Amino acid sequence: MDTIFTISFSVGLPKTSSTVCFNCHKKIQRSEIRVSKKKYDRQLYFHLPCYTPEHNLFILVSNLTIDLDENSGLIFENWLNSWNSHFLPPDPNISIAWNKTKSFEVPKCKRLRLLINVFEFLTYQDICCNLASVSKEFYEISWNNYLWGALFQRDFNKLCEGNECRKLYIDTFFNCCTRCGISSNKYIRCTLLKRIICKNCFESKSCELLDKNTIKRVYGINTKYLNLKYHIGNNGNRRLCYKFLVEAAVKERRGMIKNKVVQLLSDKYGSNHDMTKIVSSIDTNDMDQIRKTYYKITYHPKISNEIPYESYKMIYSAIRNGGLNFARLSKIYDLIKKDFP
Ligand SMILES: [Zn+2]
Ligand SMILES: [Zn+2]
Repeated sequence: MDTIFTISFSVGLPKTSSTVCFNCHKKIQRSEIRVSKKKYDRQLYFHLPCYTPEHNLFILVSNLTIDLDENSGLIFENWLNSWNSHFLPPDPNISIAWNKTKSFEVPKCKRLRLLINVFEFLTYQDICCNLASVSKEFYEISWNNYLWGALFQRDFNKLCEGNECRKLYIDTFFNCCTRCGISSNKYIRCTLLKRIICKNCFESKSCELLDKNTIKRVYGINTKYLNLKYHIGNNGNRRLCYKFLVEAAVKERRGMIKNKVVQLLSDKYGSNHDMTKIVSSIDTNDMDQIRKTYYKITYHPKISNEIPYESYKMIYSAIRNGGLNFARLSKIYDLIKKDFP
């Protein structure tokens, strides 16, 4: 796992042939590549083939001082590549990305760790139904507790302690509602989520099914930006998706556009400019306003009336609609020019 050790040394061609190799006690000739390494207060020298790094770790070139000519450089590069081929490069994302506070201790075996890291991106079905039958090694990994701990955390957003992560994962996957996490015997098997939803959750507002036109009408956002999967409705041409999935995707898209606009504005006008500050304070979780008239319901952007700028209204709509193109952006810049003469 993560380690505080690094390997560093200097490598070069000696200027004299008077230094002696610490390993074989023979003189190091001027034509031979010499590794020099400080240990405590002593400077130790080695022939390159006599030198074995003190830790079994990947060597980063940035930790070395290299002074070699073209020929010896190639020899050293070969040596380095062959040493490094046994180890994984240090990876800043070693702890699993979906939980920054806990990392899993994977046994030191490089291949196993590598494979587990790859399997962590796959689904339960991929691992149990397909990969487990590929080879003995894959089969064994499909039972690996670390792997299931990581999958559990990824899919259920909870830590899984103990040695039975696989069992717990499968129990949770098949018996617990994908929305509330509670196990219930009244449930619906959902083909879109490939999980079950309990009857309570299924009948709640968040599991309402919305079609593409409704999504566009309510959230003002083009569904091409949302990257959603849909059920095909009964009559064959309605694409339906759960409201909670739609809302999560809408939130993500708007957040992304907002960050982009804030970035553009602060690059152009500075982060202290009024418009940059106003846009930074837009709450992308709450941008839709429902208006009921006596015969119908309409949805509108929740624009603040206290901000008089036309440019603000335009930016607000762009974020809400999840779309920002060049034409719109240049219009926004024109309006800002008018609003802040
Ligand atoms: Zn030697
Ligand atoms: Zn539920």
